Amino acid sequence: MNPCTSGLWSPQTLLPVQKRQVSSDGTRKLLLGLDDGQSVETVIMSMPKAHTLCLSTQVGCPVGCTFCRTGRSGFVRNLTPDELLAQIRTAGRELHAATGRWPERAVFMGMGEPLLNFRTLLRGLEMLTTARDPHLSWRKILVSTVGIPDRLEELGRSRLALPAISLHAPDQALRDRIMPGASRWPLSELLPVLRRYPLPGRERITVEYILIEGLNDSDGQAEQVFELLAGVRAKVNLIPCNPVPGSPHASPAPQRIEGFARRLRELGLTAFVRRSLGPDILASCGQLRGEESRPPGNASGSATREEQTT
Ligand code: SF4
Repeated sequence: MNPCTSGLWSPQTLLPVQKRQVSSDGTRKLLLGLDDGQSVETVIMSMPKAHTLCLSTQVGCPVGCTFCRTGRSGFVRNLTPDELLAQIRTAGRELHAATGRWPERAVFMGMGEPLLNFRTLLRGLEMLTTARDPHLSWRKILVSTVGIPDRLEELGRSRLALPAISLHAPDQALRDRIMPGASRWPLSELLPVLRRYPLPGRERITVEYILIEGLNDSDGQAEQVFELLAGVRAKVNLIPCNPVPGSPHASPAPQRIEGFARRLRELGLTAFVRRSLGPDILASCGQLRGEESRPPGNASGSATREEQTT
């Protein structure tokens, strides 16, 4: 398929690539510049089943998760609709130039809480699902959110994307500690929305759970997660914690990760452990932008090809 010359994937209004990292596994990470001097990250993941864009909706993030580089660096501002569309277009064209393929999936799992920039998110989803040559099925788009109940309900009615809920803790008290900005939307309000969330066919809600050594990774906590999700058509995506400079959190040992997943499965939940893509290019969100403020020579990853384009 040739590069498009009109519509969403056209070359008009691209964002400048300030920095590009290419992992040995094909994952590409871009730092994209904005007119006011800010920047956002976008990741292009090449997986056997699909080429996927991982998109940002905010510069920084107000939720302040303690395990997240973006959360630890604070919130700057929302992206505008034009900036989001330009980000999608820039990443899509980068993918096409590298592989000859257009995106088959999109996940809003980059910088920011998408439901806090909701109108802009909806605009981006509308463009992705209605673009020419090609567009994405709404069932191939995931919006990762801490779960803002009224907006989650509106997302469900829109049928523009499926949700991925960032749970990360088996109870409210621990969730408040590691996701302080999410305490405004307590689990007691979120879970009823998840139980009645409209899902087509055999689809399920993805529940994301960062596994942090000694904090939320015991078998007893797996049992609490199972009880919490009673009545939710859910599949649990377990994500070993990425190391973040200045954070006390670490990933559990592989045996504990597998033990947590096994306990969930024994109880009847579908649970996967997410494979880490692009580990040699600091693939968790906010790290590339954070690298910009570090002295030269601190970047990691001997297998990484890195290109500074500013
Ligand atoms: S994990 Fe997501 S919601 Fe939490 S601070 Fe990072 S970007 Fe924000």
